[in-house]
Amino acid sequence: MANASDPPDRPTLRPDPRPDLLSLVPEALDHALAEHFRSRGQPAFRATQVRKWVYETGVASFQEMTNLPQEERDALEAAFRLEAPEPETVSRSADGTVKHLWRMEDGELIESVLIPTPERLTLCLSSQAGCAMGCTFCATGWGGFGRQLTTGEIVAQYRGSRAWAEAHDYGPIHNLVFMGMGEPLANRKAVHPALTILNAGLGVGARRITVSTVGVVPGIRELAARPEQFGLALSLHSPEEALRAELIPLEKRHPLPEIMDALHAFRDAGGRRITFEYTMIRDVNDAEALAPKLAARAREVHAFVNLIPFNPIPDQDWLPSRPERVEFFRRTLDAAGVSVAVREPRGRDIDAACGQLRANALVELEGPRRKRGRARGAKVAGAPAAGNGAEG
Ligand code: SAH
Ligand code: SF4
Repeated sequence: MANASDPPDRPTLRPDPRPDLLSLVPEALDHALAEHFRSRGQPAFRATQVRKWVYETGVASFQEMTNLPQEERDALEAAFRLEAPEPETVSRSADGTVKHLWRMEDGELIESVLIPTPERLTLCLSSQAGCAMGCTFCATGWGGFGRQLTTGEIVAQYRGSRAWAEAHDYGPIHNLVFMGMGEPLANRKAVHPALTILNAGLGVGARRITVSTVGVVPGIRELAARPEQFGLALSLHSPEEALRAELIPLEKRHPLPEIMDALHAFRDAGGRRITFEYTMIRDVNDAEALAPKLAARAREVHAFVNLIPFNPIPDQDWLPSRPERVEFFRRTLDAAGVSVAVREPRGRDIDAACGQLRANALVELEGPRRKRGRARGAKVAGAPAAGNGAEG
């Protein structure tokens, strides 16, 4: 509560003390709104009206809630926030992929990507500004860590993208994937409630939401313990521990056998999908001998495998695997009874791959930053050339 001696029109304090409605799980939102309107002597249906604006529309402010009296809009604004980042840019690819680059209140940039196919519309969400995991093939990893996103900032990407999709005849969003910037299971404090809100509040079915992780074992186990049947994607990228550790530093902390155990627990929880993501990098992780090993890992936990030709990133000269090699992997998996798909890179012309646009912006604005620990990647065949003057 404001101190009685404060001037009534005191400017907003930082950090903003008002609770963000988009960060509250539905039950807490209902409770907060009910209390708010009760204390103002308003009828109970006002809470339902606001709930609908929050969950069913993309309005960016309380002032747009036009079925509320003006003084109720003002009172809501004084009591609560509604996280609604501005799009810094909206880029549309020739293939229909649409990327929103959102500017957060503190200036951090994050992105979400709408990916249409003839059958469905998928939205790819970010969970962190940047990423601390430092995977050698990933633009987000090269950009370094910015900060954790709040629950509201995660949910706001969905709200904003849904509003854009409706306004531009893209239709409803069918699938949600946490495959934008960041490692969702390294931001579980915000991601767990975001999953609840997206599912129970905004109505996205749990089986249509996929959390992608590079192997944060405690997070996989927490997801397994949740009652909702969210999907899980493991960014595998190598069926062998030694090679995987060259690509993914976290492998040293949570090695593959430990991850596979957690995946068994996830499967045992019932009714959930496991996907393996395998980014195919020429002469790095596409040796023919790896294909049957990948098949064996996938069979073990009944995982669906996505083969994704590597999307080249700035400051690194790795190339995507040759199409023949991708096809070899596909055939090997298929023959072993593993469900497999080759994913075409989408939105290349707008840098819609993982963290790419932000990485480009960082390179332009600041020069490459936070390259420490990257020399290890250079041991892998076809590694990035040094020569950018950054520390080795
Ligand atoms: N941190 C999580 C989710 C975000 S990354 C994770 O790693 O799973 C989403 C996917 O994009 C991951 O499978 C990641 O390995 C993949 N990816 C990252 N950089 C890529 C690149 N340059 N080309 C192709 N896929 C890439
Ligand atoms: Fe982070 Fe995922 Fe990129 Fe690795 S691949 S650096 S975990 S965003």
